[in-house]
Amino acid sequence: MQGNPAFLQKFNQPVPRYTSYPTVPFWKDVIDIPQWKQAFHNQFSACNEQEGISLYIHLPFCESLCIYCGCNKKVTTNHHVESVYLQALFSEWNMYLEMMGRPPLIREIHLGGGTPTFFSPENLERLISRLLEGAVVHPDHSFSIEGHPNNTTKEHLDTLYGLGFRRISYGVQDLDPEVQKAIHRLQPFENVRRATEEARDSGFTAVNFDLIYGLPLQTQERLERTIRQAVSLQPDRLAFYSYAHTPWMNCSQRLINETYLPSAEQKLALYESGKRWLTEGGYHNIGMDHFALDSDELYAAWRNNTLHRNFMGYTTQHSGMLLGLGVSSISDLGSAFAQNDKTLGGYYQSINSRELAVRKGYFLTGEDRVFRRHILDITCKGATMFDMTWSALLEEWTLPLLREYEKDGLVYLDEKGVVLTEAGKPFLRHVCKAFDLHLLRDEKIRGAGIQRCGKSALNDEAIGEKGSDPGEGRPPQFSNAI
Ligand code: SF4
Repeated sequence: MQGNPAFLQKFNQPVPRYTSYPTVPFWKDVIDIPQWKQAFHNQFSACNEQEGISLYIHLPFCESLCIYCGCNKKVTTNHHVESVYLQALFSEWNMYLEMMGRPPLIREIHLGGGTPTFFSPENLERLISRLLEGAVVHPDHSFSIEGHPNNTTKEHLDTLYGLGFRRISYGVQDLDPEVQKAIHRLQPFENVRRATEEARDSGFTAVNFDLIYGLPLQTQERLERTIRQAVSLQPDRLAFYSYAHTPWMNCSQRLINETYLPSAEQKLALYESGKRWLTEGGYHNIGMDHFALDSDELYAAWRNNTLHRNFMGYTTQHSGMLLGLGVSSISDLGSAFAQNDKTLGGYYQSINSRELAVRKGYFLTGEDRVFRRHILDITCKGATMFDMTWSALLEEWTLPLLREYEKDGLVYLDEKGVVLTEAGKPFLRHVCKAFDLHLLRDEKIRGAGIQRCGKSALNDEAIGEKGSDPGEGRPPQFSNAI
């Protein structure tokens, strides 16, 4: 079934990554700031003492442009921007500290980008010291960073280790020189090896790699070499993302020679082979796009059904509040989402006027919470039990699609719930979409059916994992599913 052209056509459509529900295109363009402040106050009061809070800090600068990239980034070689940006982050943090009124209990910090290692070790130390000043660090905390193998130095790693960081994710993407040339990201294997070994020497207990399939000039042989080389370094966890070619949203992708891109059929074959090579290398497939060694805590969380998913992707921590700081960062209060201004100019202007930089956002309804839970269940456990108090909506929107997927062999379905089959794992996002009432209603209104998701999904900028537009090379949230 999966090799046949009709099947491939049906599933080779952009589908959200579901790091939020509702997804960003369905948020309001202008958030009610007093309502946001009230929601923040309520959630902070509810979760700070027990669970603590998570912080996502977006560091947007990069020294060179990788043309496949869908991140919110600013390319520059001028490092004076670091201090200016840090000052803005400190002012933003101060505004939230005033709203908190008591010391935050910090459970999680994640530095994403852009390229966080664009910042000097001294400036990263200034940043973390300021965030922790007067805060309480949760005994079960987790601090992590995205590093570029080309510019992460031993000094960066030693400094970060001293500040409590134990996990680093490197954007590897592909190790073949021809593919690297085609995406304008020249990064020899030697740099990845050095950065990995140095992280371990510094004391990091977890090193992650991001790989991407579906890139220009990628072939079975090239991808196999990339995966075998990556596996030889034994990263604890690997993300294996699908490249989403969306040049109408990401201008730099227009520089990619489209004749170099694999077809839908070749892309599915790359995914299937990649999954096999990773599994042969000792990695377990976890939820959407992720593979982990036995020893990795994400694998334990997957097995124990304690995995969680938010804008930072999969996480073993669930703090009840994710506060995003910096340009384009996203905050998730559980009951509401908000995103900061996506332009540096707009972000600086708000912060310098002593105003929050939140722009668009969304306050969840009762229906949203139920369908969000179904989507989280599917992404984190591969199964969900229906909430029958919402049976009319399930019958109208969700079940017709799930019955179709059952015929395709992607799910087991009964009156109580749905479970993904092994064959259904690559199509997990499509199964989530069956619960995405915002997208399904929007498609119906537009008569879009199987067409691309119209304005709501594709004419807006994509937002990905990690609390902002996807950083360090990650593809956008709306990704071609195969
Ligand atoms: S892939 Fe990473 S380094 Fe390259 S432009 Fe995007 S954020 Fe910057």
